[in-house]
Amino acid sequence: MERYKKDFLTTLKGFDFNTLENSKHSIYGLSKNLNLTYFNPSWFRFLKENNFEESDLHKFPLGTSIIEALRGEIKDFYIQNYKKVLETGEIWQHEYECSSSKEFRKFHQGVYPLKNGEGLIVINSLLVNLPMDQIGRKAHDAIAKNYLQSTGFITQCSNCRKCQRVDQEEVWDWVPEWVERMPANSSHSICPTCFDYYWKYPRIKDTSPNGI
Ligand SMILES: [Zn+2]
Repeated sequence: MERYKKDFLTTLKGFDFNTLENSKHSIYGLSKNLNLTYFNPSWFRFLKENNFEESDLHKFPLGTSIIEALRGEIKDFYIQNYKKVLETGEIWQHEYECSSSKEFRKFHQGVYPLKNGEGLIVINSLLVNLPMDQIGRKAHDAIAKNYLQSTGFITQCSNCRKCQRVDQEEVWDWVPEWVERMPANSSHSICPTCFDYYWKYPRIKDTSPNGI
Protein backbone atom coordinates (compact mmCIF):
# COMPACT_ATOMS: atom_id res chain seq x y z
CA MET A 1 0.00 0.00 0.00
CA GLU A 2 1.25 3.49 -0.90
CA ARG A 3 2.59 5.25 2.20
CA TYR A 4 3.25 8.78 0.92
CA LYS A 5 3.29 10.93 -2.18
CA LYS A 6 6.22 12.93 -3.47
CA ASP A 7 4.84 16.25 -2.29
CA PHE A 8 4.87 15.00 1.30
CA LEU A 9 8.66 15.16 1.12
CA THR A 10 8.67 18.79 0.00
CA THR A 11 6.31 19.90 2.79
CA LEU A 12 8.10 17.98 5.56
CA LYS A 13 9.75 20.71 7.65
CA GLY A 14 10.84 19.89 11.17
CA PHE A 15 11.65 16.20 10.81
CA ASP A 16 14.05 14.24 8.61
CA PHE A 17 12.18 11.74 6.49
CA ASN A 18 14.54 8.93 7.51
CA THR A 19 13.87 9.62 11.18
CA LEU A 20 10.16 8.99 10.64
CA GLU A 21 10.80 5.97 8.42
CA ASN A 22 13.12 4.28 10.90
CA SER A 23 11.13 5.10 14.01
CA LYS A 24 9.76 2.23 16.06
CA HIS A 25 6.83 4.48 16.98
CA SER A 26 3.80 4.42 14.75
CA ILE A 27 3.53 7.67 12.86
CA TYR A 28 1.13 9.25 10.41
CA GLY A 29 1.08 12.61 8.70
CA LEU A 30 -1.81 14.99 8.02
CA SER A 31 -2.12 17.93 5.66
CA LYS A 32 -3.37 21.27 6.96
CA ASN A 33 -6.82 20.16 5.77
CA LEU A 34 -6.45 17.02 7.92
CA ASN A 35 -6.06 14.59 5.04
CA LEU A 36 -3.75 11.61 5.51
CA THR A 37 -0.40 12.28 3.85
CA TYR A 38 1.94 9.68 5.31
CA PHE A 39 2.19 6.35 7.17
CA ASN A 40 5.50 5.02 8.44
CA PRO A 41 6.24 1.26 8.40
CA SER A 42 5.62 0.93 12.15
CA TRP A 43 2.09 2.31 11.71
CA PHE A 44 1.01 -0.81 9.84
CA ARG A 45 2.49 -3.02 12.52
CA PHE A 46 0.58 -1.05 15.16
CA LEU A 47 -2.75 -1.49 13.38
CA LYS A 48 -2.22 -5.22 13.00
CA GLU A 49 -1.35 -5.58 16.68
CA ASN A 50 -4.57 -3.76 17.52
CA ASN A 51 -6.81 -6.12 15.61
CA PHE A 52 -7.40 -4.06 12.52
CA GLU A 53 -8.00 -6.16 9.44
CA GLU A 54 -5.98 -5.81 6.27
CA SER A 55 -9.15 -4.62 4.53
CA ASP A 56 -9.51 -1.78 7.08
CA LEU A 57 -6.11 -0.45 6.06
CA HIS A 58 -7.19 -0.16 2.44
CA LYS A 59 -10.39 1.68 3.35
CA PHE A 60 -8.43 4.78 4.32
CA PRO A 61 -5.73 5.39 1.70
CA LEU A 62 -3.59 8.51 1.38
CA GLY A 63 -5.69 11.60 0.84
CA THR A 64 -8.57 10.37 3.03
CA SER A 65 -9.75 12.92 5.57
CA ILE A 66 -8.93 11.89 9.13
CA ILE A 67 -12.51 12.97 9.89
CA GLU A 68 -13.71 9.94 7.89
CA ALA A 69 -11.02 7.61 9.22
CA LEU A 70 -11.59 8.15 12.94
CA ARG A 71 -14.16 5.94 14.58
CA GLY A 72 -16.80 6.57 17.15
CA GLU A 73 -18.11 9.48 19.13
CA ILE A 74 -14.73 10.76 20.24
CA LYS A 75 -13.64 11.84 16.78
CA ASP A 76 -14.48 15.48 17.63
CA PHE A 77 -11.96 15.29 20.47
CA TYR A 78 -9.20 14.56 17.99
CA ILE A 79 -10.38 16.96 15.28
CA GLN A 80 -10.65 19.91 17.65
CA ASN A 81 -7.25 19.29 19.15
CA TYR A 82 -5.57 18.70 15.77
CA LYS A 83 -7.02 21.99 14.54
CA LYS A 84 -5.78 23.72 17.65
CA VAL A 85 -2.22 22.51 16.95
CA LEU A 86 -2.45 23.95 13.43
CA GLU A 87 -3.83 27.26 14.77
CA THR A 88 -1.41 27.73 17.63
CA GLY A 89 1.70 25.93 16.38
CA GLU A 90 1.95 24.25 19.79
CA ILE A 91 2.56 20.53 20.25
CA TRP A 92 -0.38 18.59 21.75
CA GLN A 93 0.33 15.50 23.84
CA HIS A 94 -2.06 13.09 25.47
CA GLU A 95 -2.40 9.47 26.53
CA TYR A 96 -4.98 6.93 25.47
CA GLU A 97 -5.82 3.30 26.14
CA CYS A 98 -5.99 0.74 23.36
CA SER A 99 -6.25 -2.59 25.19
CA SER A 100 -6.99 -6.04 23.91
CA SER A 101 -8.93 -8.63 25.94
CA LYS A 102 -5.71 -9.98 27.45
CA GLU A 103 -3.37 -7.01 27.50
CA PHE A 104 -3.61 -3.56 29.00
CA ARG A 105 -1.95 -1.11 26.61
CA LYS A 106 -1.52 2.59 27.10
CA PHE A 107 -0.14 4.89 24.42
CA HIS A 108 1.23 8.39 24.26
CA GLN A 109 0.30 10.52 21.27
CA GLY A 110 2.36 13.56 20.31
CA VAL A 111 0.97 15.84 17.60
CA TYR A 112 3.63 18.08 16.05
CA PRO A 113 2.93 20.99 13.69
CA LEU A 114 5.20 21.09 10.65
CA LYS A 115 7.40 24.15 10.90
CA ASN A 116 5.98 25.67 7.72
CA GLY A 117 2.38 25.24 8.96
CA GLU A 118 1.61 22.78 6.16
CA GLY A 119 0.40 19.91 8.32
CA LEU A 120 0.92 17.64 11.30
CA ILE A 121 3.04 14.66 12.26
CA VAL A 122 1.30 12.33 14.73
CA ILE A 123 3.53 10.01 16.76
CA ASN A 124 2.04 7.16 18.80
CA SER A 125 4.28 5.36 21.29
CA LEU A 126 3.57 2.53 23.66
CA LEU A 127 3.86 3.52 27.34
CA VAL A 128 2.53 0.47 29.17
CA ASN A 129 1.88 -3.09 28.08
CA LEU A 130 0.84 -5.45 30.88
CA PRO A 131 -1.18 -8.63 31.13
CA MET A 132 -4.73 -7.65 32.07
CA ASP A 133 -4.63 -9.78 35.22
CA GLN A 134 -1.77 -7.64 36.58
CA ILE A 135 -3.62 -4.34 36.55
CA GLY A 136 -6.50 -5.37 38.77
CA ARG A 137 -9.31 -4.55 36.34
CA LYS A 138 -12.27 -6.71 37.21
CA ALA A 139 -13.21 -8.96 34.32
CA HIS A 140 -16.89 -9.83 33.91
CA ASP A 141 -18.23 -12.94 32.23
CA ALA A 142 -20.06 -12.56 28.93
CA ILE A 143 -23.51 -13.41 30.30
CA ALA A 144 -25.96 -12.09 27.73
CA LYS A 145 -28.91 -11.60 30.09
CA ASN A 146 -26.89 -9.12 32.18
CA TYR A 147 -26.18 -6.89 29.20
CA LEU A 148 -28.88 -7.49 26.60
CA GLN A 149 -30.95 -4.28 26.42
CA SER A 150 -34.67 -4.19 25.67
CA THR A 151 -33.70 -3.07 22.16
CA GLY A 152 -32.18 -6.52 21.61
CA PHE A 153 -28.64 -5.13 21.53
CA ILE A 154 -25.62 -5.22 23.82
CA THR A 155 -24.23 -1.69 24.18
CA GLN A 156 -20.46 -1.27 24.13
CA CYS A 157 -18.59 2.02 24.60
CA SER A 158 -16.72 2.66 21.36
CA ASN A 159 -13.89 4.28 23.28
CA CYS A 160 -13.14 2.26 26.44
CA ARG A 161 -15.00 -0.83 25.17
CA LYS A 162 -16.89 -1.50 28.39
CA CYS A 163 -20.46 -2.84 28.21
CA GLN A 164 -23.55 -1.31 29.82
CA ARG A 165 -25.46 -3.38 32.36
CA VAL A 166 -29.19 -3.90 32.03
CA ASP A 167 -30.15 -3.71 35.72
CA GLN A 168 -27.89 -0.73 36.51
CA GLU A 169 -27.66 1.44 33.43
CA GLU A 170 -25.00 3.66 34.97
CA VAL A 171 -22.58 0.74 35.38
CA TRP A 172 -20.33 -0.26 32.49
CA ASP A 173 -18.25 -3.44 32.82
CA TRP A 174 -15.08 -4.77 31.21
CA VAL A 175 -16.14 -8.00 29.44
CA PRO A 176 -12.98 -9.45 27.84
CA GLU A 177 -14.77 -11.96 25.64
CA TRP A 178 -16.67 -9.15 23.92
CA VAL A 179 -13.55 -7.02 23.55
CA GLU A 180 -11.97 -9.90 21.67
CA ARG A 181 -15.04 -10.55 19.55
CA MET A 182 -18.15 -8.40 19.55
CA PRO A 183 -21.43 -10.31 19.55
CA ALA A 184 -23.46 -9.88 16.37
CA ASN A 185 -26.22 -8.09 18.26
CA SER A 186 -24.07 -5.28 19.61
CA SER A 187 -24.32 -1.56 19.16
CA HIS A 188 -21.71 1.09 19.80
CA SER A 189 -22.35 4.01 22.06
CA ILE A 190 -20.30 6.04 24.50
CA CYS A 191 -20.22 5.66 28.29
CA PRO A 192 -20.83 8.72 30.53
CA THR A 193 -17.20 9.30 31.55
CA CYS A 194 -15.90 9.00 27.98
CA PHE A 195 -18.75 11.25 26.83
CA ASP A 196 -17.87 14.02 29.28
CA TYR A 197 -14.12 13.93 28.85
CA TYR A 198 -13.75 13.36 25.15
CA TRP A 199 -16.94 14.71 23.63
CA LYS A 200 -18.53 17.29 25.92
CA TYR A 201 -15.24 18.88 26.98
CA PRO A 202 -12.91 17.95 24.12
CA ARG A 203 -10.08 20.40 24.69
CA ILE A 204 -7.28 19.07 26.87
CA LYS A 205 -6.52 22.54 28.20
CA ASP A 206 -9.62 24.67 28.52
CA THR A 207 -9.52 28.01 30.26
CA SER A 208 -12.90 29.34 29.17
CA PRO A 209 -15.11 30.34 32.14
CA ASN A 210 -17.86 27.77 31.63
CA GLY A 211 -15.52 24.99 30.51
CA ILE A 212 -17.27 24.40 27.20
ZN1 LIG B 1 -16.13 4.56 27.72
